[in-house]
Amino acid sequence: MCGIVGYIGSQKAYPIILEGLKRLEYRGYDSSGVALIENGKLEIYKEKGKIEFLEKSVSKKKFGANLGIGHTRWATHGEPSKLNAHPHSACHGNLALIHNGIIENYKSLKIMLEENGLKFESETDTEIIAKLIEFYIKKNFDFPEAFRKALNKIEGAYGLAVIHKDYPDTLLAAREGSPLVLGLGKGEFFIASDAAAIIRFTKEVVYLDDSEMAIVSRDGYKTTTIGNEEVKKKITKIDFDLEEIEKAGYEHFMLKEIHEQSKTIEDAMRGRILEEEGVVKLGGLLEIMYNVLKAKRILITACGTSWHAALIGEYLIESMCRIPVEVEYASEFRYRNPVITE
Ligand code: GLU
Repeated sequence: MCGIVGYIGSQKAYPIILEGLKRLEYRGYDSSGVALIENGKLEIYKEKGKIEFLEKSVSKKKFGANLGIGHTRWATHGEPSKLNAHPHSACHGNLALIHNGIIENYKSLKIMLEENGLKFESETDTEIIAKLIEFYIKKNFDFPEAFRKALNKIEGAYGLAVIHKDYPDTLLAAREGSPLVLGLGKGEFFIASDAAAIIRFTKEVVYLDDSEMAIVSRDGYKTTTIGNEEVKKKITKIDFDLEEIEKAGYEHFMLKEIHEQSKTIEDAMRGRILEEEGVVKLGGLLEIMYNVLKAKRILITACGTSWHAALIGEYLIESMCRIPVEVEYASEFRYRNPVITE
């Protein structure tokens, strides 16, 4: 998973974006980039490798922009390279877009866009979103509407943030499947794929839900579905502090995670092992407990660490409940035609 950070307000955007990206770096960092709008110009800077390479490459620049977006990439389509790094641009360099996720119908959209004369520079699935917005802008839709039109065409998973030179007071964002949070400030707003990136700047956030987009300006924001129905979102106050989510003095996140195992287990079990009553209570499962007990077969879908955890679940459930269990890779499962009953 990659990282997304965006800023619109009156402070300098670059240091805020850079700090946010660094907090998300452990999620993936084959390349990174930023796009900034300043004095009627949009500039994009990208580098392959760690964020510090990007930082070094622009260290002589003095950025005054107060609108910008930044990205750390974990490649899915196209090799890790400067060219494939985000932001991707369209509208002759006037639009910049960052994306977290995978666009599944990018091939057919690319063919359609190429037939309409649009040219591609990268091998990514992401670039088609930028060019699709351009396609609709050329059809005379304004920037937010062109973005909405594009969202209705793409299929897959995305957290997105986009800016356009001709709209210096607009930051657009949308979500489907990949997390996206809007941070609220006074006359300023933040966008991030994880609250950790912006928690130092604001504790008030709005979590976008799937198929929702946000149109953000310095004066305020509007959230709608991608079908253009307005949605009033709940404002959440974040009550964990930064230290909890940072490396806490350890050199690497893996080292920190190893040392934190006992605390993690304790935290995970809190409220689930009721010592006084001497029972284990799995609240989330209670509602479906009778269905689960009647099940002839249980299938667990998971990826990575949760896949390993699911294997332990398989042994435990089979040995205690005598119900056959299978564990499937969630990422493969959705493309299969699995034998499952209603
Ligand atoms: N699919 C996009 C790419 O390969 C985004 C990957 C990511 O989430 O970092 O560029």
